[in-house]
Order: sequence, then C-alpha cells, then structure tokens
Amino acid sequence: MIDYQEILDGIASNCLTATEKGKIATYIPELSKVDDSKFGIHLVDNSKNNYSAGDSDELFSIQSISKVLSLGQAMSLVGEDLWKRVDVEPSGDPFNHLSLLEMENGIPRNPLINAGAIVVADILISNLENPKLEFLNYVRELTNDNSINFDIEVAKSEKETGYRNYAAANLLKSYGNLKNDVETVLDFYFHQCSLKMSCSQLTKAFYPFMNKGVCQQGKTFLTVRQEKRINALMLTCGFYDEAGEFAFEVGLPGKSGVGGGIVALLPGKYCVATWAPGLNAKGNSKLGMEALEKLTTATAQSIF
Ligand code: GLU
Repeated sequence: MIDYQEILDGIASNCLTATEKGKIATYIPELSKVDDSKFGIHLVDNSKNNYSAGDSDELFSIQSISKVLSLGQAMSLVGEDLWKRVDVEPSGDPFNHLSLLEMENGIPRNPLINAGAIVVADILISNLENPKLEFLNYVRELTNDNSINFDIEVAKSEKETGYRNYAAANLLKSYGNLKNDVETVLDFYFHQCSLKMSCSQLTKAFYPFMNKGVCQQGKTFLTVRQEKRINALMLTCGFYDEAGEFAFEVGLPGKSGVGGGIVALLPGKYCVATWAPGLNAKGNSKLGMEALEKLTTATAQSIF
C-alpha cells in the first residue's frame, strides 16, 4: 500500500526549503503581496482519506483554476451547445494571447484560456438569474463548504489592470461571440478568478472530476461523459503553453492558476492540490509542478 502521508511529508520538506522558487505574479497588483515562502499540498483518495503537508489549509487566489469550475457549471446548464462557441484544441500559446482569437474568427481555442473562459462566463450570465451568487453557491455545494468566498480586493485589482482581458472580451464581442456586455462579463470573470480557497478545499471541489461526476457527499454534478471531457481538456489545455511538459513530467490532468495553485487528479484514485506562489517562465507554479512530478514518480501512478 502506498504511504501518501510519507510521500507528501518528503515533498513538503523539500519544497519548504527550496531556494529556487520562481517569481510571484505581479501583473495583478494584489497578488504580488503574497509570501513566496509558502508551500502546501493536500491529497484525498477515492475512499475519502485525507493527507496533507505544509500550508495546505491556507487560503489563496485560485485564479485560472476557477475556469474548470465555471466550465463544469456551464456544461451542466447548456450541454453540447457550449461547443458551438468554444473549441477544444490546445492553443500552444500563453493564457492571454489574442492573435489566434482573431485568426479563428472569435472562437476561442479552448475553455481554459482566458478568451474561452470569458465565453463560458457569458454563457453562465445568460443562464443564471444571479450569476455571481449562483456560481459561488455551485462551488460551495461541490465543496460542501459555505465559507468559500470571492476576494473583492483581488477582483478589483484585476479589473483595474485587466487590459488584455478587456481586449479579448471586445474582440469576442466584435465577432458576436459575447451576448452580454463586456463590463458585465468581465466583472463576473474577475470575481470567479478571485475565489479564495485552500489546497484542501480544492481537492473537495475537484473530487467529482475524478469520481465520475459524483462529489464526496454523493451528489452527482456531471455525467460520466462530461467528466471525461473536462479531464481531456485539463490534460491538453490546463497548463497554458506548458500542457505538454506537465503531461510529460507529471502525467495527470490538472489546472494551474497564476496565484500559484495547481489541482491534478488520477481518475478513480485521487485528487491532489498544491500551492506555491512562485511561478516559472510559463506562468505555472514552479515548486507545484516539481512536487507533482515527485508524487507521480514516487507512487509510480499516473494516467499512462
Ligand atoms: N485572472 C487571471 C487573468 O485573467 C487568470 C490568469 C491565470 O491564472 O491563468 O489574467
């Protein structure tokens, strides 16, 4: 039997003493205030056993990890129609790249880059009466934790400096792929990205994605087919222009965010989240990627 706790302890002690930690994201000013010495990891297995090490209960800005959660909610609301407005191909480009969007007539490459997530946000706004609250409630229900909330300061900070997201939303609007107005959609998008969660809460939120759509409390959030599709997207598109490297080193579907979080999962077996705020050159958590590579190597388990 694999001793997950021993493996996580080893990973955390390496990461907490690492000297090369990567660089904290500063383009959202509020994120630059985070302490770069933090490291947390939490794993929950398919029998709901929990293992953790380091700062695994500390809240951080989940940023792009939220794109998987908004996608899950949008898929359950509109089903296959979603794919008329967003493609499912990796972009091979940074998360905020714009040129492909223009070349491909306003259809974002996938729902996990910014332009794609902005279209998903637009779909949620069109289909929910009180979009921000209902999205927040969806995440609280997935996690069975009503303490989860937006970080209003982070959302405000991103709004003030979100020039590229405004550019993407305006391009989408010019191609007719945004039904609501740019301000409303970006207000929702900045709030969803500002969600504050811990590694341990993230593993609960992502549990249905490794458990055929069913959360820890037994409620079904997604069909088996939807779960398959979300995992395929995380594997091929979850790490900006480093999805190949993550699959190569770690071998799990997952999603990162510029707040330094990563969630990854081994379908049917476990869900794991890491947090280390320093990013590598591609915008993924440096120590988080290294930690997950160590996990799949030490356990000799991956999807391959
Ligand atoms: N809110 C961030 C942005 O749109 C998310 C980036 C990320 O985590 O990849 O720039």
